[in-house]
Amino acid sequence: MQKYDVAIIGGGASGLACAVGIKERDKNLSVVILEKGERAGRKIAASGNGQGNVSNVDLSASHYHGSGAFLAEKLCCSGLYNPLELFDFLFINDKLGRIYPAGKQGSALSDCLLKKVKEAGVDLVLSTSVESVERGYKLSLSDGNTILADRLVMSAGGAAQKQFGTDGSAYNLVKSLGHTVTPVSPSLVQLRCDTRHIKTLKGIRAECKVTAYGADGKILGVAEGDVIFTDYGVSGNAVFYVSAYCSGEENVTLSLEFLPEISVGQIENDVRNKIEKGYPQSELLCGTLHNQLGRAIMRRCGGCDPRTVAQTVKNFTLKAEGSLGFDYAQVTRGGVPACEVDENLQSRLAPNLYFAGEILDVDGDCGGYNLTWAFCSGMHAAKSIVNSFDTDD
Ligand SMILES: Cc1cc2nc3c(=O)[nH]c(=O)nc-3n(C[C@H](O)[C@H](O)[C@H](O)COP(=O)(O)OP(=O)(O)OC[C@H]3O[C@@H](n4cnc5c(N)ncnc54)[C@H](O)[C@@H]3O)c2cc1C
Repeated sequence: MQKYDVAIIGGGASGLACAVGIKERDKNLSVVILEKGERAGRKIAASGNGQGNVSNVDLSASHYHGSGAFLAEKLCCSGLYNPLELFDFLFINDKLGRIYPAGKQGSALSDCLLKKVKEAGVDLVLSTSVESVERGYKLSLSDGNTILADRLVMSAGGAAQKQFGTDGSAYNLVKSLGHTVTPVSPSLVQLRCDTRHIKTLKGIRAECKVTAYGADGKILGVAEGDVIFTDYGVSGNAVFYVSAYCSGEENVTLSLEFLPEISVGQIENDVRNKIEKGYPQSELLCGTLHNQLGRAIMRRCGGCDPRTVAQTVKNFTLKAEGSLGFDYAQVTRGGVPACEVDENLQSRLAPNLYFAGEILDVDGDCGGYNLTWAFCSGMHAAKSIVNSFDTDD
């Protein structure tokens, strides 16, 4: 039975950052990462469509949600930790403020962390799931082995995309240690919609402003960017962004505003001009929007009143009918409530237990916020753990 100073459950962004942080502060502490997948850091490599969207230039607090949003504000938004310092890279950002390694290769980020983990002498145990945990801490592994540890870090992620090893089963481990888990829902995910008005648009991408309205008509979220029409509803980065605000909500309506930089009056004049020139009704938005999109809008208007057409271009509504669910979501909304951890990310319920990353009830907007949280919370848990050993001495 092997014994470690620190055992980390989950070799994702937060677990790797935590291991590196512990070893940078005290190289003598023995650390093991237990990872059920064949590789560690897989979501880091997949982030930003494989380009590695690690953070964002705008780290304002409003980009974080959940009972632990204040923790993200303290650890990420205040600049207390800088996730970019974990990597020996040059970084660049795009016009939406999303930060990537200059080489735009997500796997370079995970490779860099794995190199640091290896060089620091952390034991990384792959293809091994932690099946149960007893206080103390005694971990029973899927290969039949048992590991003992003085400090335990729960960085096993949430329930989003089980192909990355995160199927929500880690919530049972934290519950067995006395913790609770808030209701969880998928976030940063494609949205299902009533597709009656978009049946002919499958595969078409449009730049627009998306506003999500709740059942009471209140604005839930707004985003500008790509919308991609699909057979189930809508995808694209603007949809991902607003999905964070629709997560867990019922009766959501999406309003798509095409041509956000052109006024209703300008569109109205354009339509009137085309009517005067004898364009058929179905072609009145020809050249103004993608032809198929223009025709879909004209069908929906049911006539060619220029004002109505222009208003429909500016407010093309779709009734949202949920999302594609956890299998497609980038992040989980909900998790271990913030009231169950202290400012050191240490459990208030089980001594020497620490939390980091998505397993906590913190989720961020689309654009690098979730990796930032995972890295900063991992680094903070590392600092707290090393301090706790110093206090023991
Ligand atoms: C496809 C995709 C793209 C994304 N793109 C971005 C992006 O561009 N920018 C951004 O900021 N965020 C992005 N995210 C979200 C971000 O990657 C996650 O929020 C972040 O990686 C969470 O880190 P974590 O360490 O908390 O958990 P994870 O990275 O999910 O790691 C948890 C690990 O724990 C392991 N594990 C679980 N249970 C056990 C167990 N019992 N025993 C052993 N191991 C266990 C899992 O196998 C997993 O490897 C993306 C997510 C996905 C899925």
